[in-house]
Amino acid sequence: MPDIAVYPGSFDPITNGHLDLIQRALKIFDRIIVAVATNAFKKSLFTIEERMEMCRVSLADYPMVSIDTFDGLLVKYATSQKARAILRGLRAVTDFEYEFQLAMMNRRLEPEIETVFLMTGLRWIFLSSSILKEAAVHGGDIAGMVPEIVFHKLREKFGLK
Ligand code: ADP
Repeated sequence: MPDIAVYPGSFDPITNGHLDLIQRALKIFDRIIVAVATNAFKKSLFTIEERMEMCRVSLADYPMVSIDTFDGLLVKYATSQKARAILRGLRAVTDFEYEFQLAMMNRRLEPEIETVFLMTGLRWIFLSSSILKEAAVHGGDIAGMVPEIVFHKLREKFGLK
């Protein structure tokens, strides 16, 4: 049985921080499923198709990584994929409280699935999709923080071509 981890998130859009985490997780798991959430309560800049496409292109060189989408309960989705773990990233301490609550809730809902936290590389410790969008909308230079396709998509979205 391969060790599969589900990496859930909004990925609105995917950043180099997410990629860093996936590369680290590949040292531990045989397969990673990037599960892009449809997010009933969260307004996203990019559509689900755009977010998945950016993930697909950015991760094209990693055959052990697949891109999928899910709605509803994450643990149910993870079980359906035969995943052993949910992968989440930790940046600064601010992530901790929310991630702790989420992990505990998921454990309660499905005790068989563990949440695994990995720490991102130092370079990406302050990088989040929301900060990135804020910089990009005002024309800030975001090169080097995101994969090429995301760089272009963000500029296109904000009419900065
Ligand atoms: P969510 O809306 O679920 O927080 P995100 O796409 O923002 O979705 O994040 C998905 C996961 O990736 C979360 O576990 C988050 O902590 C992690 N993550 C986000 N940015 C980074 C980063 N710069 N480095 C490492 N992990 C990150």
